[in-house]
Amino acid sequence: NFRRWYCAPIRGKPYNQLSVSAVKEVFKGINVKVESGAGALSQFSDNDYNQAGAKVVDKSNALNSDVILKVRPPLKDEIPTFKSGSTLISFVYPAQNKELVELLAKQNISLFAMDCVPRISRAQVFDALSSMANISGYKAVIEAANHFGRFFTGQITAAGKIPPAKVLVIGGGVAGLSAIGTAKNMGAIVRGFDTRAAVKEQIESLGGEFLEVKIKESGEGGGGYAKEMSPEFIAAEMELFAKQCKEVDIIITTALIPGKKAPILITKEMIASMKPGSVVVDLAAEAGGNIETIKPGEIYTNSNGVVHIGYTDLPSRLPTQSSTLYANNITKYLLSMGQKDHFFVNLEDEVIRGSIVLDNGKLLWPPPPPKVT
Ligand code: NAD
Repeated sequence: NFRRWYCAPIRGKPYNQLSVSAVKEVFKGINVKVESGAGALSQFSDNDYNQAGAKVVDKSNALNSDVILKVRPPLKDEIPTFKSGSTLISFVYPAQNKELVELLAKQNISLFAMDCVPRISRAQVFDALSSMANISGYKAVIEAANHFGRFFTGQITAAGKIPPAKVLVIGGGVAGLSAIGTAKNMGAIVRGFDTRAAVKEQIESLGGEFLEVKIKESGEGGGGYAKEMSPEFIAAEMELFAKQCKEVDIIITTALIPGKKAPILITKEMIASMKPGSVVVDLAAEAGGNIETIKPGEIYTNSNGVVHIGYTDLPSRLPTQSSTLYANNITKYLLSMGQKDHFFVNLEDEVIRGSIVLDNGKLLWPPPPPKVT
């Protein structure tokens, strides 16, 4: 039935007479249905989808498709409405959603997880985690600026000299670098810290100052990710942050270790030493948080006037941008699964093998570890 979906006529010709690139160009071989109201919060109206050639339908009709593209994992009560043997591509988080995966397996679903796409150069175009991290870093700065009582940029005006705001960003991955670039563009003095030495050059290229500790320890884990640091290293970086807390106006933390709880790097004593009116944003809040006093999902001001932003849904707070980037990631991922004239799940492809969870109900997750060459 996947083929049937893919084989719909294109400009009157059967699809098997046309190349995959033709499908990519016209995409008219695919009958696209969109759930009514799906784009409302992102400023895309039903009419926009109609004009783009899609058919706007109610939710049960949309879920009764051969291929379903979604943002979040499905709700349990949506699963029985999926066609047996259909394909679902969405964020899945299979390690946290085992019951959901089992229910989908019983329906013979083929399931692909956008959150499991391997983070290799070739797959950057499908990398929705990076797209969302980029948005989170940007939005963290915007939220901080919104709750900060001064300009970011320094000014000399007739009414007096205004110093630039000082921003500290902890963790220089995708989100951290995005935050550094945004704060720098807004005129702040920006400092960054990361355990991975490779990040120094990246922070400096964005105009930030890279902070360092005296202790030498490599923070590189596998595949460009961080590893858990020794207690000595964590103590040394916390000593550095304790000094910074007295100086900076805004702290944005993004330090994560894949599969582990986020390390606490800013203690309540450090927060107590910050100036009233300072703002802290914790992008690791969902993974336990880097800031001891953060409340995941909440915003509040503590007793010494430090605004705490613990939002865990920053991409949703920039909905049009998130939708646009995610749509690009997911459609390019889907369209990559073509061979000559038909839809084809190539399990020899590292990207597909890394991100497939179920193949017609058969559990293929977790994938085998990458071959060491
Ligand atoms: P992440 O969200 O897992 O972690 C954020 C950052 O926190 C990392 O830079 C990490 O080094 C840092 N960190 C961890 N512990 C820390 C501590 N105790 N103190 C300070 N910082 C700490 O990272 P991410 O943004 O998802 O990606 C990390 C890296 O993966 C990227 O910088 C890049 O090199 C690589 N990557 C590659 C691709 C690709 O090739 N397609 C895509 C995305 C990311």
